Amino acid sequence: MARGLQKEESQKKAQAAAKAKAGGKSNLKTREAAFKVKCRKCMLPLSDYKNFTEHWNAKHPKDPMPTEEEAKM
Ligand SMILES: [Zn+2]
Repeated sequence: MARGLQKEESQKKAQAAAKAKAGGKSNLKTREAAFKVKCRKCMLPLSDYKNFTEHWNAKHPKDPMPTEEEAKM
């Protein structure tokens, strides 16, 4: 009986590895697509305007905050 369990266990591992491999690829695509905004000051890509404002307040607090439209360009 222990043999059967081991086989099942290794199959699960292989499936998980395959899933992780495929997931890793699609995650990368999602991540690339998620960068909609770029900080003009330091060229850092950010996922959205909310992140951008947080970044701007933290890194460039003395500069005037660009509008959402400006940040997307
Ligand atoms: Zn910046």
